[in-house]
Order: sequence, then C-alpha cells, then structure tokens
Amino acid sequence: MILALAGGVGGARLAHGLAQVLDPAELMIAVNTGDDFVHLGLYVAPDIDTVMYTLAGINDPQRGWGVADETWHFMEQLAKLGGETWFQLGDRDLATNVERTRRLTQGQKLSEVTRQLCLSLGVKHSVVPMSDERVRTRVDTDQGQLDFQDYFVRRRAEPKVRGFEYVGANQAQMSAALRDCLSDPALRAVIICPSNPYLSVAPILSIPGVRNAIANAAVPRLAISPIVGGQALKGPAAKIMRELGRESSVVEVARFYRGLIDALVIDGADASLSDEIALTGITPLVTSTVMRDANDRRQLAENVVGFCEQCRLQDVRSAEA
Ligand code: GDP
Ligand code: CA
Repeated sequence: MILALAGGVGGARLAHGLAQVLDPAELMIAVNTGDDFVHLGLYVAPDIDTVMYTLAGINDPQRGWGVADETWHFMEQLAKLGGETWFQLGDRDLATNVERTRRLTQGQKLSEVTRQLCLSLGVKHSVVPMSDERVRTRVDTDQGQLDFQDYFVRRRAEPKVRGFEYVGANQAQMSAALRDCLSDPALRAVIICPSNPYLSVAPILSIPGVRNAIANAAVPRLAISPIVGGQALKGPAAKIMRELGRESSVVEVARFYRGLIDALVIDGADASLSDEIALTGITPLVTSTVMRDANDRRQLAENVVGFCEQCRLQDVRSAEA
C-alpha cells in the first residue's frame, strides 16, 4: 500500500498518474479538507472534488476545478436573484455538493460520503479526507485574518501572507482510513504530491499524529516539488514563499519537509540546486515533473514509485551491512 497526500490540482495530477500504475488495493489518497467551507448552505470540499473528478476523468482541465462540459444555469439565475456569485458552482458540480450535503445532514461521515460519491463516479482507488472533523485553513494577511476561500477565491490570493492557522486541527482526529493506512504493516511508501506546502499539505500534517507517524515510518517517504524553476505552475505557492521572506525554490520546499521525507523529487530545471537540497539531509532526485497530459502523469508516477523501490532496497542493504 502506498499513501499519497494531496491537495487539489497538483495533487490530483499525480494521484491520477499513480492510479494508472497502481491497483486500487495498492494506493490510498488522503486529501486536504482545510479548504472546505459551507457555502449557499452546501458543504463544499474543493480538493476532494478535484481529486475525485480527475480520477473519474470528468474534471475540467482548463479551469483546473469543477466538471468538464459544465453548464452554468444555476449561477446565472442566482446572479439575477441577487445571490452570492463570487464562488462558482457549475450545474453538475452543484449536484455533487447537494448530494454530499444531504448525506452529511443524515449523519454520514465525510469519509463515507466521499466513498459513495467516488463509487458512483467509477473511481476505484481510495480517496479519503484527512479527517471527518472540520479543520479550516485561515490565512493571516496584510488585510487581516481571512477564511481560506475569502483569501483564495474572493481576493484571488492577492493579500500578502504572514502566516497560517489550521483552525480545529488540534481537536480533530485523522480519518479512520488514514489512521489505518499509516499503521498498516503493509504500508510501502508515503508520497507527498506536488501540492501547495502551506495550503494543501500543512493542514494534513497539522492533524494530531500524522506528522509523527510519517516522520517515524520505516518506509521511503518522498515529496514531489510543486516549485519548478523557482515558480509555481499554478497558484500562489511561490508568491507565499517570497511573502514569508523565503526564496521561492526547491530548496525551500526541502527545508519545509525537513525531518519528514527522505527524498525530494525535483525537475531537471532545478538540477543545479541538488547539492543545496542534499545539505538539508534530504536526497534530491531529478526527473521531469511537469505533468502536461495523462502520459506525463503516468511517467512521473512510474518514476516516483521506482524511486520508492530504490530507497527501500538501499535501506534493506544498509540494514544488512
Ligand atoms: P490546489 O488545492 O488546487 O491549489 O492544488 P494543490 O495544492 O494540489 O496544487 C497546487 C500546486 O501544484 C502548485 O504549487 C503548482 O505549482 C503545483 N503543480 C500543478 N501542476 C503541477 C505539475 O504538473 N508538476 C508539478 N511538479 N507541480 C504542479
Ligand atoms: Ca485546494
């Protein structure tokens, strides 16, 4: 079993690749829920849906979120009625959120609801929320403490970031599936997808027990850098690094995951920073990490799974030596 930690777009891309090279029984994708919020009375879970739609092959590749071939009658009518339209929900996407909310209201856990929605959409690999309890990412900015969606969508990630809070994380428990996976003797590797470290991965690591379990796991632990050539391919990861007074580079990604991972997978564009990464105690692994299409995803996933196997063999050899 391989455990992958994922946010939305970058996470979903690699998760899709991993799902092409691993059987459903060999992969669990634990997804950030720090972006979740209640909007128009609906429980919206953007990262779970991005991963779910991508694995189902029905995601909109242009927008990066939502369902392909979407229609917008609901939003158009809502605008006419003077409703809130800063957060877009297409008609098909709306159905997901209505059905999720109905099931949650009936008392089902988010894990169970997610399992059912995935089943209905033909997703065979396990997609599990990091927790069934509410954890809300708050962003400390020059415009004040903002709810995640207020920062990210309404204000387009323009405010300058000073820090983050994952409200409720201390009281939350990891989902049963994630807990079982982390303590499963059959766990083979942990892969941190190329997701935003602060907004997508840190919320997962903030759930009590997750960080320790990964830090102490006797299996290869790899992250794939979301920063390529000093830039984020999408979203504010690089901007946030600079606003926090750090350099936007793969070295900063390595520093962020220090003590947690054995190796960081970086793109060829960043190969010259390998020595600096090695100084953090993390092994740099260089390959193509930009996933333009399904082939790239599959190739990167194959390489990453291969790296895990290499790390495992090296461990076995050094233990025998
Ligand atoms: P979000 O929840 O939609 O913001 O998605 P994530 O946090 O999972 O992903 C955002 C990060 O994915 C950004 O920092 C991007 O740079 C990174 N990303 C997106 N596509 C790729 C890709 O093809 N390769 C790599 N290495 N990173 C990517
Ligand atoms: Ca997200």
